[in-house]
Amino acid sequence: LDDKTLNDKTIVKDYFNSTGFDRWRRIYGDGEVNKVQLDIRVGHQQTIDKVLNWLKEDGNLEGLTICDAGCGVGSLSIPLAEAGAKVYGSDISEKMVTEAQERARETLKDTSGLTLETKDLEGISGQYHTVICLDVLIHYPTDEAAQMIKHLASLAQSRLILSFAPKTLCLTLLKRIGEFFPGPSKTTRAYQHREADIVKILQENGFTLKREEMTSTRFYYSRLLEAVREGVNE
Ligand code: SAM
Repeated sequence: LDDKTLNDKTIVKDYFNSTGFDRWRRIYGDGEVNKVQLDIRVGHQQTIDKVLNWLKEDGNLEGLTICDAGCGVGSLSIPLAEAGAKVYGSDISEKMVTEAQERARETLKDTSGLTLETKDLEGISGQYHTVICLDVLIHYPTDEAAQMIKHLASLAQSRLILSFAPKTLCLTLLKRIGEFFPGPSKTTRAYQHREADIVKILQENGFTLKREEMTSTRFYYSRLLEAVREGVNE
């Protein structure tokens, strides 16, 4: 990793261990939030539900090994473990992981199917039937996204599920307009990705698209892709 990448990562990590933690823990919770945060909460939950529906529809969740890379406060890891999957979730932010562990203890009768730890996703090893990485690519510029997806692909025996903010003309304009009204910075830099770029990266790593979804609310936009390893049926 070059200096710029390391620096970007330190910024993201520090953010999710400080102001970002407070902001996102609230958005990913059920307490009172402002209208924008509520909109993002609803949108994010739709992405989570779409993934859960896909996996439940397949009917093989019991005992399935799943890696949730950049698991945040466990919004996906916890319900997956509840449904009987064997889940490994990790996140670069220790605070997010600690929150996820607390939520898991409060929610799950049995936490033995869930392992949570603080780890940069580049440091994840092992093999999982399914690797899932939701709303993390927003922290990666496109040139670094290729390396990141390649690593996740190497961990996935048969399926990779990713979500990202799509780069479309409309969103690019909205972002520009946002930049004309600089307030106190609410977040780190956000990177959008062209769907064609992501699909190409997936194909280069031996994966083909199977299902896709789009979630858009007023302030939350997330493209969800499920890709399966070519030549693997299950
Ligand atoms: N995937 C979770 C979800 O959908 O509920 C959390 C999404 S949140 C917008 C982004 C998360 O990615 C944060 O918890 C952040 O700490 C984590 N993250 C960012 N860069 C990371 C990296 N290089 N390795 C692991 N986690 C990372």
